[in-house]
Amino acid sequence: MSAATVAGALAAARQSIPIVEARLLLRHALGASAAWLEAHRDDLLPRSAAEAFAALVERRACGEPVAYLLGFREFYGREFSVTPDVLIPRPETELLVEIGQKIVGTPGVLPAGRAGDTASLLDLGTGSGCVAITLALELPQARVSAADISAAALAVARANATLLGADVSFVESDWLACFGGRRFDLIVSNPPYVAAGDPHLSEGDLRFEPPSALACGADGLDAIRRIVADASRHLEAGGWLLLEHGYDQADAMRELLAAAGFADIEQHRDLAGIVRVSGGRLTKYQEALN
Ligand code: GLN
Repeated sequence: MSAATVAGALAAARQSIPIVEARLLLRHALGASAAWLEAHRDDLLPRSAAEAFAALVERRACGEPVAYLLGFREFYGREFSVTPDVLIPRPETELLVEIGQKIVGTPGVLPAGRAGDTASLLDLGTGSGCVAITLALELPQARVSAADISAAALAVARANATLLGADVSFVESDWLACFGGRRFDLIVSNPPYVAAGDPHLSEGDLRFEPPSALACGADGLDAIRRIVADASRHLEAGGWLLLEHGYDQADAMRELLAAAGFADIEQHRDLAGIVRVSGGRLTKYQEALN
């Protein structure tokens, strides 16, 4: 193989992967910026970089997610480290953060005395930590906790919190199991919600992500049912539960929240117009049951 130029290597790579991805992978192999790549199209690639790039292209062509190959993914304007131990942050999950921020930051949404940004928050199934860390950074006065059942995921989340300078307290827990009598003003979660037999699980990036972060039961709602059932014992009076769910689970979510006694149920559409986040407020009626 003759030595390749930057442009030549990109032209070869685009035979098997999209050019946008080829540029990202070449930048990664070279440690170079987009501008550098553009300005040095005719430079010869050092052999080590050419080999590293070829290996990345081949892995990508076999389906490995770009985020795992690069080792990071952008979420809410910040870079989060990701490994195959965690779900890759999705743009639609930014909606969960945005609504969570509004619940805490809008006067009158949480009960007086608990409102504002001194509220206590819990993120369940935190994975890379992207939701908890973003909330902690956007609401610097809030006390943010985050849980995951996977010690490997928590290691990634802790590293992200340190790198991004976020103060989040991490707990290894199977959903709410390890939270004893603790209560929060807002519980958020992007739990697994894909139905176990869904064909999407054997397509694209999902094939490489932790199955336990994606699929949950025959209808995908097992984790959500558990969280909804247990949340009222861990919410302050008037506190909110806010969950991301699948594109076809809006009606089921509304029913589950209503059946568990949540009031003021809100459902929010993502940028594609799909109801993606549902939430409700802990009522007096629920408190009486607990
Ligand atoms: N939104 C993801 C997908 O459809 C699923 C993430 C999840 O289960 N929380 O690929």
